[in-house]
Amino acid sequence: MRKFTRQTKIIATIGPSTESEKELIQLIKGGVDVLRLNMAHADHDWIRMITERSRKIGKQLNREPAIMMDVKGPEIRTGYLHRELEIKEKDLLDLVFVAQPNPPSTDGIWQIEVNYDKLPDHINAGDTVLLDNGLIQLKVINSSKEKIRCEVQGDAILKSRRHVNLPGIETGLPSLTEKDRRDSLVGIECNHDFFALSFTRDADAVDLFRSFLRDNGSDAQIIAKLEDQKGVANIDEIIQSADALMVARGDLGIECPFEELPIIQRKAVGSSLSAGKPVIVATHMLESMIDSPVPTRAEISDVANAVNEGADCIMLSGETTTGKYPHECIQLLTKIASRMEDEIQPGLTENLKLFRPKAKMLRSAAMLAMRLENSAVLVFTRSGDLAAKLGALRPNGAPLFAFTDVNGLHRRLRLIWGIEPFLMDFSKDPEVTIQNAISRLSKGPWIDSGDQLVIVTNAFAHDKVVESIQLRVVEL
Ligand code: PEP
Repeated sequence: MRKFTRQTKIIATIGPSTESEKELIQLIKGGVDVLRLNMAHADHDWIRMITERSRKIGKQLNREPAIMMDVKGPEIRTGYLHRELEIKEKDLLDLVFVAQPNPPSTDGIWQIEVNYDKLPDHINAGDTVLLDNGLIQLKVINSSKEKIRCEVQGDAILKSRRHVNLPGIETGLPSLTEKDRRDSLVGIECNHDFFALSFTRDADAVDLFRSFLRDNGSDAQIIAKLEDQKGVANIDEIIQSADALMVARGDLGIECPFEELPIIQRKAVGSSLSAGKPVIVATHMLESMIDSPVPTRAEISDVANAVNEGADCIMLSGETTTGKYPHECIQLLTKIASRMEDEIQPGLTENLKLFRPKAKMLRSAAMLAMRLENSAVLVFTRSGDLAAKLGALRPNGAPLFAFTDVNGLHRRLRLIWGIEPFLMDFSKDPEVTIQNAISRLSKGPWIDSGDQLVIVTNAFAHDKVVESIQLRVVEL
């Protein structure tokens, strides 16, 4: 049995560094499982173009990555500035709701526009407002309908259109904005496999988004992004209602006390595993490699830690959108993940709840494959559930092959730890389906003569169809 290089999956965000045909070919050949399109920076024509391009390349290479549209969600930003402003510790600064062509006012109080005029309804004296991903800290002194007066905490440079974070404050913004709806319609038109919902605060936000997708004819899966304190408080209901979870550490590290971040990550990964839902650890994994050909030692340990905790996927953002070394990043993630996986003690996720009898059989199949030399698990799935549960069991070192006859599901299965998915027609006769699957595996680098396959399948017992686990030795 071929030793697979890694079972942890890789997500790469696409941008100027990776959008060309040549670069995408290299990414997909390099083993990227999911391509992420971030709607904070993309327009609709680009989305259509990049989707078509990546789908074409995926088919040519016979390795189709899934596509995830990441919708921006509710977001507050500062307005346009003609020039950068040098603001100083203890300066007064008014957040206002009308455009400010020349921000420094005559009385020495900065006037900075923000794009949400209901903010005063949600803010109190003493609250903290963070600008530019937390680089600039403001303390609220008082607020009225027209302005929120703040005091600047520390010298800083303020640039145009900066992100505003309000740790612990409920802003009352809708979970799905008009822009999100317009963007998602393009994702639906492009048949995107996943939609990531930014700033998911509760299960209702997921349900609302799911209704929107279904009403518009999409059966895509929803990845809830955990990015603020409300999301963290509601993490269990979010995991239940979403199809997968993303620990979006960029915003999470601003919205929550940063020392909480590793604890939140560990809980998010553990709870997702127990629920049998895929989980992604995202952001700053190899941030220094945006400019440098080698990672920091801390980044190497961070990636290894996410793998060790049991994340299904690790995700790159700036590293592959504008970074100088996107392919080196993929190679490095592969190297670090596969080395760490070798160190993980074989053992199955104990508290994973398996309900259907066939799903319960997976535990025995996975155990058998881990105990036997040169063996893999082979499952057949139409809903994806068997593959999701098999991956969630985390049978370290045992390759997991999932065959489906549902077009599109074969791409979605790429999100799940360890699963190598294949699209193939199923026969009415389970034996024919098994033989076809083995023949397909033998055409790639997957199996050799003498390997053992633990197959979870239906079988005929006289005239009855029964569920079975079979052990077969490959003869090619
Ligand atoms: C994050 O905040 O970590 C994240 C992945 O979201 P975005 O890139 O949309 O900020």
